[in-house]
Amino acid sequence: MALIIIDECINCDVCEPECPNSAISMGPKIYQIDPNKCTECVGHFDEPQCVDVCPVGCIPVDMARVETREQLMNKYRALIALNEPSDSGER
Ligand code: SF4
Ligand code: SF4
Repeated sequence: MALIIIDECINCDVCEPECPNSAISMGPKIYQIDPNKCTECVGHFDEPQCVDVCPVGCIPVDMARVETREQLMNKYRALIALNEPSDSGER
């Protein structure tokens, strides 16, 4: 499951730099998580880093987005592939 930031967010800014997938950004009122980029930190860390640092505990899993660990790992692999510089053959 992707995680979701709920209304209790106090915009403390600490979670955004901790996300290994750059899934967290400032939204219209509070921070938000791009569910297409959130892997629950699968592939990078054992625990969701944003949850670890959030001082108010406002980042639950999004029950509307059920994903298995395998699906999360596949998302991680796809994101890594996107972020890798393409091999242009330059020498
Ligand atoms: S769980 Fe991990 S990947 Fe998802 S938003 Fe939080 S820090 Fe980013
Ligand atoms: S750590 Fe929690 S309170 Fe702080 S900006 Fe992120 S979601 Fe909001």
